[in-house]
Amino acid sequence: MSRVYNFSAGPAVLPEEVLKEAADEMMDYKGSGMSVMEMSHRGKIFDGIIKEAEADLRDIMNIPDNYKVLFLQGGASQFFAEVPMNMMKNKKAGYIITGQWAKKAFQEAKIYGEAVELASSADKTFSYIPDCSDLPITDDMDYVYICENNTIYGTKFKTLPDTKGKDLVADVSSCFLSEPIDVSKYAVVYGGVQKNIGPAGVVIAIIREDLITDDVLEGTPTMLKWKTQADNDSLYNTPPCYGIYICGKVFKWIKKMGGLSAMKEHNEKKAKILYDFLDQSKLFKGTVAKEDRSLMNVPFITGSEEMDAKFIKAAEKEGFVSLKGHRTVGGMRASIYNAMPIEGVVKLVEFMDKFEKENA
Ligand SMILES: *Cc1c(COP(=O)(O)O)cnc(C)c1O
Repeated sequence: MSRVYNFSAGPAVLPEEVLKEAADEMMDYKGSGMSVMEMSHRGKIFDGIIKEAEADLRDIMNIPDNYKVLFLQGGASQFFAEVPMNMMKNKKAGYIITGQWAKKAFQEAKIYGEAVELASSADKTFSYIPDCSDLPITDDMDYVYICENNTIYGTKFKTLPDTKGKDLVADVSSCFLSEPIDVSKYAVVYGGVQKNIGPAGVVIAIIREDLITDDVLEGTPTMLKWKTQADNDSLYNTPPCYGIYICGKVFKWIKKMGGLSAMKEHNEKKAKILYDFLDQSKLFKGTVAKEDRSLMNVPFITGSEEMDAKFIKAAEKEGFVSLKGHRTVGGMRASIYNAMPIEGVVKLVEFMDKFEKENA
């Protein structure tokens, strides 16, 4: 068996321990004589798996009791529609546009009501987080929406916007469980798990209970109504059982590693190694305003498309894979999620240094 250093933005690297455990339990989950993929989602065993996963997540994130945790399907992209469907009582909301995922959520919201652009960093190719200390938020807005970590551009909100008392909704797909957050500052925190938690197919949504009501936009499908999912503890229909099982294992792994403050320390250490190298390199350059740099997604360029391509190819040969930037921006991007070991970043930097000297 040989494992590569996987810098994919998502689906992405998972802890080896988790994969091994899952492999061990593949044919016979704890004496049941079957795999978790093969058992009823209404049975006692799966009930234990989903309840334990939720309890561990609540513990890790310190989720207050007045928030519901839902395990959903449809990807983060389907949730772009669920937010206005469930929250647009006045049919008006504010969006901060810091990249493509925020923009997609914004465009989706426009289908259902008036979505207002409160701030944007489009003027400089989303390479920074705009000042959000005094946004043009009006009283009739139902919520303020952000994408907290911008997977494609590599920026992250270091402080949350001043929402002037409005509910904050955050897509945390690519920074989920990367550091501690104060859930009570948000109305809704959600993300697809395939970036930092588990296999594609699960969306975790943490929703303040008062937002879970029957008062949704007309025409909202039963499945997309949060109340349907909450009333049924995410088991209205067949949930993504196997994905939830893997997420549960990752929660246990995070606990064992010391929880979210330990994760943050581990992630800061990794990111610093890479950013420090980029800051002194003559060949490679980071593309993002320093104060807004993400701990999870690190985009960089050489300034020459040919050199970028040469680097990506050479890196792949050495076992550093998926370093190509998003198809819409080019260059390189190293995603260094929780499960990327420090060693992976150290070796990548050594390789970049060697490549730089050879191509001076
Ligand atoms: C990947 C990503 C999405 C899209 O996720 P899907 O599950 O493919 O719909 C949305 N938001 C962010 C921040 C992402 O990184």
